[in-house]
Amino acid sequence: MMPYFHISEPLELEKFRTADPNATWADLKATMNVNISVKNTVPKKGAGLCIYCEQKLIDKVDFQVEHFVPKKGDVNSSYLPGDPNWAIHWDNLLPACLGGTAPAGNMPSSICDSESRIYTSKNNISCGQFKGDKHPNVGFISPKEIPSSESLFLYEVDGQMKFNHKAKNVGSLDKNSIDKHIGLLNLNCERLKRARAKFALMLEDEFDVAQQSYEDVSELIEKWLTPNADGLLDQPFFSLILKRYKS
Ligand SMILES: [Zn+2]
Repeated sequence: MMPYFHISEPLELEKFRTADPNATWADLKATMNVNISVKNTVPKKGAGLCIYCEQKLIDKVDFQVEHFVPKKGDVNSSYLPGDPNWAIHWDNLLPACLGGTAPAGNMPSSICDSESRIYTSKNNISCGQFKGDKHPNVGFISPKEIPSSESLFLYEVDGQMKFNHKAKNVGSLDKNSIDKHIGLLNLNCERLKRARAKFALMLEDEFDVAQQSYEDVSELIEKWLTPNADGLLDQPFFSLILKRYKS
C-alpha cells in the first residue's frame, strides 16, 4: 500500500468537470484530450506504482485508473447528498495494476516479471480487480492515510506483509484495520508474496554489491525511494524498501 503523492488535477479534467458536473466515466473516456491527460497524470499519484500492491505499472499492459469510491456502473456516482460526482472526481482516481489479470498475449517479452502480472488463478487476483464495487467504508484504508516516512508494514521472508507494530505515525490505524485492508485487496496472495520475496532478494544483492564497492549506500536508498524527473520510481515495492532500509 503506497503513500499518496499529491499531484494537481490536470487542467483538461478541471475544465471538463466544470462544464459538465454530471458527466459519467464513459463521457470522460470518450473525450480524448481529457482521457489522455487523466491517463498520463494519474500514475504519478503512486509515482508509477500500483497504489495498492506497489508493483510497477506498465502503460497499456498492466495499468488502469481505479475509482477508490466505486463509480456505480455508468451514472453520476454521488452516494450521499453533498457527495461530489465520484466518477470523475480527481481525488477519487488512483493508479492501479490489473491485479494479476493482465492478458499474457499483451505482455512484451522485455517484461521480466510477467509471471507476477498475468492471470494464473482466481486466488491470485488482487487490488482493484479483487476489490470490485465495494465502498471504502467497508474497511479500505485511503492511500492518503499511509505515511511516506515509515512503513506501516513488515515483510516476512516469503513476501507476506503484516502490520508493523513498531510504526509510530499510524494515526487511528491498528493491526485489525491493516489486516482487514490487506484481506479486502488480497495483498497476501501467493503471486504477490512471490513477487515481493524475489524482489527483496534482488535488492539485497544490489545493496551488498554497493556496500562492498564502498559506495554511499544512503544515496542508493534515497535513489530507490525518490521519484525521477518524470515523477516515477525506478523500483517497485516502496514500503518494503522503506521498512528494510530506512527503519
Ligand atoms: Zn496492484
